[in-house]
Amino acid sequence: PVRVRFAPSPTGPLHIGGVRTALFNYLFAKKHNGVFYLRIEDTDQNRFVPGAEQYIFEALEWLGIAPSETVAKNEKFGPYRQSERKHLYQQYADQLVHSGWAYYAFDTAEALDNHRKQHEAEGKTFIYNWHNREKLDTSLVLSATETEKRIANGEAYVIRFKTPVNETLNLHDIIRGDLKFETNLLDDKVLFKSDGMPTYHLANIVDDHLMETSHVIRGEEWLPSLPLHSLLYKAFGWEAPEFAHLPLILKPIGNGKLSKRDGDKMGFPVFPLEWKSEEGVSSGYREKGFFPEAVVNFLALLGWNDGTEQEIFSLEELAEKFDLNRVHKAGAKFDPEKNKWFNHHYLQQQSNESLAEAFAPTLAEKGISTALDVTKVVSLIKERANFVSEFWDLADYFFVAPTAYDEKAAKNWKEDTPHLMQQLISVLENIGDFTSVNIETIVKDWMTKNEIGMGKVMQPFRLSLVGALKGPHLFDIVELIGKEETIKRLEKAIA
Ligand code: GLU
Repeated sequence: PVRVRFAPSPTGPLHIGGVRTALFNYLFAKKHNGVFYLRIEDTDQNRFVPGAEQYIFEALEWLGIAPSETVAKNEKFGPYRQSERKHLYQQYADQLVHSGWAYYAFDTAEALDNHRKQHEAEGKTFIYNWHNREKLDTSLVLSATETEKRIANGEAYVIRFKTPVNETLNLHDIIRGDLKFETNLLDDKVLFKSDGMPTYHLANIVDDHLMETSHVIRGEEWLPSLPLHSLLYKAFGWEAPEFAHLPLILKPIGNGKLSKRDGDKMGFPVFPLEWKSEEGVSSGYREKGFFPEAVVNFLALLGWNDGTEQEIFSLEELAEKFDLNRVHKAGAKFDPEKNKWFNHHYLQQQSNESLAEAFAPTLAEKGISTALDVTKVVSLIKERANFVSEFWDLADYFFVAPTAYDEKAAKNWKEDTPHLMQQLISVLENIGDFTSVNIETIVKDWMTKNEIGMGKVMQPFRLSLVGALKGPHLFDIVELIGKEETIKRLEKAIA
């Protein structure tokens, strides 16, 4: 059975790249009727940030991709917070020491530094492994009794993995295919520390095993850990899950990984939700007015497509079509403009009622209490909007008469314009059924009969109502603001 996980460390707000990892795991689980679970990897207490865990839950919840097993729901595999599983890990570290796959090391920071310098002096990069240590400093290779004595004395130690020498590892990644790694290039990574805490590597492998993870789907930055992780499975005698390392998300312009700085420079968020800390406020997609469907949609296309030109996918459709074999190896460029396009699309899908509701706080803030049908206003202008936050600029003239007229457009205001507008007022006054289609028919009839050019009436008419030559179909505006207000604005313009 498919069991996949999202395993963030609560060290700050979830970056959009992390959200994509969660999404791909979610989709893969859904596609295969499997389980998507969330595990909090908080063994590094120094990097713990209060609020980060809550933020992660809230973000996934908002996007509609919440895990089915997580800390709050203690299923068979819980607890899902590694700090609550602390008691579990020591036995596994001990197991590796006993089987010869790990060893105690007492190196001080100073000693490590010396090794590094010695290597550099010889023009080599320092790789921390036991055969290098043996060569450099035989006194570091301790007998079992010496080791025990030092531990009993309370000396600080770490347990390191004993990487095999001279081996070529042939590994497989679903996205990257066959990969080769030379063990001589690997460090002997720390697995366990004398404070009783496992490191990421040990806890991650132990938990992926105990939680019966079938596939590890994670960011490319973890690819260098793949050889160690696969060796750890071998050392424990466990079957390894399958691996899929997702491509990087790249900057919109230039090369390299998308960073918060790119977002700050170009004015787009890199976080799903707003994040407040001592360093300030980082904006979030939710607060910027993105719909969760839009965020899910654009994230899904960062490194994946279904092989067609299709770009709009609902979450359900994604879950149906998602395929790890169609995830690209190459990094995916982040395109903030395209993201807005997605939001535009999803904004059009919302009901006018819900958009009017979302617009209401802005109207209240502007001190507008209106008799107009806001739902109708929204239906007329939403086509031009990417965000609800743009509604006011697109629709302000529905609620307040223009106080100034666009200068360029006012050039169309000719000598005979006031006279024409006066005539138009009389025409409007006599219309009984004040609906868009009817007003349009009557006004156009009047123009035809009197051989008045369209532009001569329509442009000044629009300018009088809107203050500029913008906005939706003019007669829709006229109907909506009503006869009285239309005439009032015309009178004001010619006064
Ligand atoms: N805790 C790791 C992280 O913060 C998990 C990496 C993995 O998925 O193995 O991304």
